[in-house]
Amino acid sequence: MSTTDTTTALRDRVETVLAATPKGLLINGQWREASDGSTFEVENPATGEVLAEMASATREDAAAAMDAAANAQEAWARTPARERAEILRAAFDLVQERAEDLALLMTLEMGKPFAEALGEVKYGGEFLRWFAEEAVRDYGRYMDTPEGNLRMLVTHKPVGPCLLITPWNFPLAMATRKVAPAVAAGCTMVLKPARLTPLTSQYFAQLMIEAGIPDGVLNVVSSKSASSVSEPIMADPRLRKVSFTGSTPVGKQLMKAATDNVLRTSMELGGNGPLIVFEDADLDKAVAGAMAAKMRNMGEACTAANRLLVHESVVEEFVAKLAEKMAALTVGNGLDEGVDVGPLVEAKARDSVEAFVADAVERGARVVVGGARAEGPGYFYQPTLLTDVPADARAVTEEIFGPVAPVVTFADEDEAVELANATEYGLASYVFTEDISRGLRIGDRIEFGLMGLNVGVISNAAAPFGGVKQSGLGREGGAEGIAEYTTTQYIGVENP
Ligand code: NAD
Repeated sequence: MSTTDTTTALRDRVETVLAATPKGLLINGQWREASDGSTFEVENPATGEVLAEMASATREDAAAAMDAAANAQEAWARTPARERAEILRAAFDLVQERAEDLALLMTLEMGKPFAEALGEVKYGGEFLRWFAEEAVRDYGRYMDTPEGNLRMLVTHKPVGPCLLITPWNFPLAMATRKVAPAVAAGCTMVLKPARLTPLTSQYFAQLMIEAGIPDGVLNVVSSKSASSVSEPIMADPRLRKVSFTGSTPVGKQLMKAATDNVLRTSMELGGNGPLIVFEDADLDKAVAGAMAAKMRNMGEACTAANRLLVHESVVEEFVAKLAEKMAALTVGNGLDEGVDVGPLVEAKARDSVEAFVADAVERGARVVVGGARAEGPGYFYQPTLLTDVPADARAVTEEIFGPVAPVVTFADEDEAVELANATEYGLASYVFTEDISRGLRIGDRIEFGLMGLNVGVISNAAAPFGGVKQSGLGREGGAEGIAEYTTTQYIGVENP
């Protein structure tokens, strides 16, 4: 098919996919209206058009979803792991089958280019397959105490009903990264998707129903008011855990609320990732890594390389190469073939990115590429490369969440580490050097939960994903991911 044909085929599918996406609340296996009939609109950030009207959960709906999760917990915990695993595996297959529909929904409601959305379906789908495999291998142990007076029976049990709150930037992957381990562990759940991007989660929930998830195990309550959902659920003593991905301020608020009932928490919060380019780096590799780590998802990723820290001896060459790549990016509607950079998620996000650039320029930064919003009805901002950025510019000290790359220089390894760690965040970091010993030495010194060595994208369902410092608590994915949803029980048995 030609470029135009592909684009036309995608656009022709929009109405069908939107019509197939449930707009209600999923409570106890039934899609239903909000108790007071209220709704909210979902907008396409590339056009400003309304895509759908969704039921908006009230406090009563949230309480009903919590009831459903609590009532389903006991039977679900007793369901054999193999059965739970097979539901996940069936969901994985359905996600592959409907990959284009899921990707289309993400492009429509969030803005990312369709090819990137397909990439997210692949990545997000893998959590279903990975945790289908993990579900049946969550080993306990049986052993003697050191004194030989007791046998110890140590088992993992589901922690209990969970509240899962997801952000808008990866609408599918953030949901599967929580739902899959919860299902694998035998927990029931209430999922609250982000207000800006509920459609993908709703479609995914329908696939989970098709895959055989029992009534009440997965409840989905979208709402225009996040606190109307989180408050009644978190006040309910039957809730045992909250898993949140989003901004650090909201995460802190939820952690405070979690103290009342001593809830388990997993917190995947904000980031301010450094990407360090040493003088011995392969600069083409570093530029490719920077493009991936900075420009993927329009820079709206918690793992984004927020700051590019470059050795002063190679900065000129690095900036020239990166500028060429950034200037060649095509900005536009993610449904159009050849588009590399979609819109930001909403007007507020675009205005915020604009303010970061204005602040940097005011403090003396130089705009090498971009530096302005792009024309159009949507919320577009040009890919922007800034040099001579002072250390106190907001683009260096805060999470930008947009397609803006500030370059800061350093003189030696100690200074690189010091600059990298000079943030309250500690999620993703990237290091480019051809000296592997140096790379591993930086790994020892850098205060980040994740580090890419000569690579700009490291997320994988098999890897433990998570941050240190104010980037959060807990890990998602890997062998660690299921442990977030289990609790350990020890039974001491009299020695026969
Ligand atoms: P956000 O904190 O505004 O919202 C995240 C979710 O929390 C949404 O579902 C939102 O509706 C809900 N929410 C907002 N206020 C709430 C409240 N008072 N009580 C309960 N729920 C509430 O974040 P966002 O703008 O959607 O996402 C961007 C942020 O998420 C960035 O800081 C980014 O770094 C972070 N993020 C982190 C990861 C990670 O894995 N560490 C992944 C993606 C995004």
